Amino acid sequence: MTFRATVLTIFPDMFPGALGMSLAGKALAAGTWSLETIDIRDFGIGVHRQVDDTPAGGGPGMVMKADVLARAIDSIGADDRPRLLMSPRGRPLTQRRVIDLAAGPGAVILCGRFEGVDERLIEARGLEEVSVGDYVLSGGEIAALVLLDACIRLLPGVMGKAVSAQEESFAQGLLEYPHFTRPQVFEGRPIPGILLSGDHAKIAAWRRSEAERLTRERRPDLATRGDLDSVLENPPKKGPSKA
Ligand code: SAH
Repeated sequence: MTFRATVLTIFPDMFPGALGMSLAGKALAAGTWSLETIDIRDFGIGVHRQVDDTPAGGGPGMVMKADVLARAIDSIGADDRPRLLMSPRGRPLTQRRVIDLAAGPGAVILCGRFEGVDERLIEARGLEEVSVGDYVLSGGEIAALVLLDACIRLLPGVMGKAVSAQEESFAQGLLEYPHFTRPQVFEGRPIPGILLSGDHAKIAAWRRSEAERLTRERRPDLATRGDLDSVLENPPKKGPSKA
């Protein structure tokens, strides 16, 4: 099953961007995922292909027009992919949501610009607003790349053994334990001896306690949120196979 991404943007040249390189780029070439960009401007109004207008009620900036965006979205046709709007007002993206998206058929992603999009469009097309963090970007494109990158690396075959759902940051609501590799001593700092002991049970216990310590110190909110606790026992179901 190919993970199908359709991105609506006024800057289609920003895609695949960084996702055309490295593992995501190879997976794109291999057909593990597909990318279609839709240039919102193709649906703009008049000779200037206008996509935005001044805000009702006044104020600074411009608002993306509902009629233009609706035509752009409707050009895709109906399918079972979630329709997302990148938005700082959205629900913050979590690894839990990423895992669910990656197990599905793909995503339709609308990238906002200017002050954002007409509220009626969000309602009328049932868009799910997704935020990549509590800060404001100049547009949704980089946020869309972030979301897609997080999904693509989880697709079967993209990273092979390197992705371990059990041990990565956020699995079991914990940050990951610290990593070390050769040289054995770096600027007077040795690799923790236990990692060189060959005792796998002890190593696992040490890593677990380090993960817990780091999480307590840095992200006490994660320990209580328990985002992924249930994922490991109930992996997301794969959708029906489709072309
Ligand atoms: N005036 C808006 C910000 C608009 S930023 C506000 O205060 O909420 C322009 C576009 O960038 C948004 O429409 C959205 O698509 C994108 N964007 C900005 N910050 C984002 C974030 N943290 N997560 C996801 N998308 C974001």
